[in-house]
Amino acid sequence: MTAPVVKGRCPGALNPMMSGDGLVVRIRPFNGRLRRAQADGIATLATAHGNGMLDISSRGNIQLRGVTDQSHPPLIQGLRHMALVDASADIEARRNVLVTPFWITGDETEVFAADLTEALTAGDAPALPHKFGFAVDTGKEPVLQTASADIRLERDVAGGLILVADGAGSGKPVTSESIITEAMALADWFLENRQDQNRMAALVKTGLPLPPGFIVPRQTQTYVPAPGYTPLGAMVGLALGQLRVETLSSLAKHGGLRMTPWRLLLVENARELPDVEGLIWSADDPLLRVIACTGAPRCPQGHADARGIARHLAPHIPQGQFCHVSGCAKGCAHPKTADITVTGTPDGLSLIRNGRAEDTPQATGLSPQDIIKAI
Ligand code: SF4
Repeated sequence: MTAPVVKGRCPGALNPMMSGDGLVVRIRPFNGRLRRAQADGIATLATAHGNGMLDISSRGNIQLRGVTDQSHPPLIQGLRHMALVDASADIEARRNVLVTPFWITGDETEVFAADLTEALTAGDAPALPHKFGFAVDTGKEPVLQTASADIRLERDVAGGLILVADGAGSGKPVTSESIITEAMALADWFLENRQDQNRMAALVKTGLPLPPGFIVPRQTQTYVPAPGYTPLGAMVGLALGQLRVETLSSLAKHGGLRMTPWRLLLVENARELPDVEGLIWSADDPLLRVIACTGAPRCPQGHADARGIARHLAPHIPQGQFCHVSGCAKGCAHPKTADITVTGTPDGLSLIRNGRAEDTPQATGLSPQDIIKAI
């Protein structure tokens, strides 16, 4: 199998990444939210400067595709007008903050997200590895535990705030006043001790003891993300995390958008949404059982049309199981285990059960039909 190229960074708006269909420009909405005007503005800019397709990433970011060297500067200018880009590419790379979508205006979660953003964009912020991130998950119960993050802000079962190093079962009790300072101190601790590790869970797994105080058991997440109406608005699903500019523009007419890592968007205060094309409303929709990366031909490393294959396989994935289709062994869309993983290789598809895209396959050289027969 040809080894994928590991670039070690995610694209940004100021630091876009070349793909098979042009530059990928990833916007990191501040505090996990797009105001209606921002969402509509992104749709307009993606029409003018991209190819009209948008992706929602597994970190709740939104990316434009098909941007060119010529269209990138006016795109950034437009994003700047809407306060959607950082002062520099370095600051943008550090501002990896995932926020629970279930906050209420003015509550502590909103304040923590803003304060954490301020700390990470300050001149003296720790120079963390590019994929290192934070999760502000300070609702009553955690909802982001399956999403990628290295330092987590959560609550214990009694409602007290705790700071968590990803991969550890216990957190450190903190206060509303100390939580951001403590989070930065934990980031500094990681940098001082990481050796060659880029992620907190990998460092914790080495057995290195955390600093003193990480003694309060975490809550275990029971929340299962699904489309539907919530007290805060309508949660809508996006097949394979993609949407067209027209869909984004339609959603923006109904409310601000809260980003999630689950290929779902929360449309604030929406009590009733028209049947907008491209949205998933049922938790039973087979398309929610599959995830896929960009794949070939848009990603130059792709050996398979991951999204096309995922759509083809979706109706055959048993309910309750999850299938990841990856264009190559890098596994960008889901760098974790899945019940069924299908990996593109130069010699056909590989099938991996309960593993990741890079793991040893149970069978190789398969076609999509072979995969359907095997599952
Ligand atoms: S996993 Fe998919 S998106 Fe990532 S490099 Fe491979 S083909 Fe490209």
